[in-house]
Amino acid sequence: MRSSKYLLCTLKEDPSNAEVISHQLMLRSGMIRKLASGLYTWLPTGLRVLHKIEQVVHEEMQRAGAIEISMPVVQPGDLWQESGRWEKYGPELLRIKDRHNRDFVLGPTHEEVVTELVRKEISSYKQLPLNLYQIQTKFRDEVRPRFGIMRSREFIMKDAYSFHLSNESLNETYQVMFEAYCRIFERLGLEFRPVLADNGSIGGNASHEFHVLAKSGEDDIVFSDGSDYAANMEKAEALAPTDELESPTQQMQLVDTPNAKTIEQLVEQFNLPIEKTVKTLVVVASEEADSELVALMVRGDHTLNEIKAEHHPLVAAPLQFASEEQIRQVIGAGPGSLGPVNLPIPVIIDRSVAKMSDFGAGANIDGKHYFGINWLRDLPLPQVADLRNVVAGDPSPCGHGHLQIKRGIEVGHIFQLGDVYSKAMNATVLNEQGKSQVLSMGCYGIGVTRIVAAAIEQNHDERGIIWPESLAPFKLIIIPMNMHKSHRVQDVAEQLYQQALDAGIEVLYDDRKERPGVMFADAELIGIPHTLVIGERSLDKGVIEYKSRRTGEKVEVAIENAIAHIQ
Ligand code: ATP
Ligand code: MG
Ligand code: MG
Ligand code: MG
Repeated sequence: MRSSKYLLCTLKEDPSNAEVISHQLMLRSGMIRKLASGLYTWLPTGLRVLHKIEQVVHEEMQRAGAIEISMPVVQPGDLWQESGRWEKYGPELLRIKDRHNRDFVLGPTHEEVVTELVRKEISSYKQLPLNLYQIQTKFRDEVRPRFGIMRSREFIMKDAYSFHLSNESLNETYQVMFEAYCRIFERLGLEFRPVLADNGSIGGNASHEFHVLAKSGEDDIVFSDGSDYAANMEKAEALAPTDELESPTQQMQLVDTPNAKTIEQLVEQFNLPIEKTVKTLVVVASEEADSELVALMVRGDHTLNEIKAEHHPLVAAPLQFASEEQIRQVIGAGPGSLGPVNLPIPVIIDRSVAKMSDFGAGANIDGKHYFGINWLRDLPLPQVADLRNVVAGDPSPCGHGHLQIKRGIEVGHIFQLGDVYSKAMNATVLNEQGKSQVLSMGCYGIGVTRIVAAAIEQNHDERGIIWPESLAPFKLIIIPMNMHKSHRVQDVAEQLYQQALDAGIEVLYDDRKERPGVMFADAELIGIPHTLVIGERSLDKGVIEYKSRRTGEKVEVAIENAIAHIQ
């Protein structure tokens, strides 16, 4: 690309209305321009970066087995009535009417539309699992659009939706997508962290967010420096015990239920109050016969009815409840027998805070022959409660390491939705027995446009952006100094430009009639990783100057080796 034929649009001055560095630099380097609140035009340089991200996302989605589709931005209001989100979603949902006075929305997300597609197209378990994705414009009427494209109203999201016959299958795909997300953010050169997350208005069960660590982030991420424990502060608060947990021996008991293989069976076996809303259940179980014991902590304001096995992928996985002897081994308890359960209620199962051994838990046997869940009261959970006021350096609730708190930018979010949408919208298939069965569903979002801003937050200096190679709008810039006074400089510059094009290098050739200082400043502002400078003086020596944007390193290279030096 020749600069003279390109739309460069760089600005010398800092824009006054940009609060965060990525927003400033995107405006100054000519990546975006504001049209109206939360609405931006992508200029060529910005769009090139955006396409790089999309390409990586496409590759990793396809490697993960997702299939690309494209759904309309405009969605019928009827579908939102059906799912129940017409009422629930609130003013972020932009509602519009067509000429026939019918309700439509501008899609903030596509669960309804994809469920409508799948319920019509998929009829047999043989067609499952299925994972569909798109990279597409979303609209959310954000109450406070800010930080440029970081929180805009119109933005591009990669959204994927998976459909399953069983929760085990959902779990598998969730895991594959989790790993695909890690690969994406690694390939994009971002420093990121997956964290436990709240499900928000979307509903459903297990959920993780992916955060890029940056001071300008809007979320507080709490994590341990001694383990993988990491949570969004919202989630950490949701996990805090409620007042009802003050006397845990009444609220929770350890149970020995050799016959119950799932929570549902547990509910049946103990004749638990299925319509009653209760707060918390702790089950100590090992998931596979030989694996280490896992304490599942579950809580929420749902009735047992709502948590029947099919609602909860993790609960639905067969649970082998621990024998008394196993439990004693883990918690080091004295003799005693196990009693019945009174008030269980599984809603959220949080594996990362759930390893019994991580808690260093003790046990307590009271005169009713129960194991009291002493450790819940005395050990980690009060600290989880304190996450509201946690300060960096506090011991981690997982029992390993100390807590750190950092600001994060949410760039991705994955959910195990279970049957929230498929049930409401009656999306079923025939199972192996020829019976109609409600689908299990997962959804997986990435903020493609937000990643551009997040990457700049992590890659810049006082002179501008420093693109990682994988994101750079151009890999190379060729800067000829005063070429309008020197045919020799111009000839070599043209030659190198052609060579770079032939070698398939994305190159910007600054052939403008500008002073060298202006060209250098623009190259650094835009953040192009490699620069070749062509000047009379170096040509006298048969060399040209190479400069690295990231390291600032300058070396002289022979003209004939210049392009090879970039590759
Ligand atoms: P946030 O908490 O930042 O409002 P969200 O939790 O509402 O985001 P999700 O519904 O999880 O967003 O959507 C998936 C992804 O879309 C988010 O992880 C984020 O990267 C991106 N995203 C959401 N809202 C916006 C926005 N207004 N502008 C740009 N990207 C967004
Ligand atoms: Mg939001
Ligand atoms: Mg969020
Ligand atoms: Mg989210």
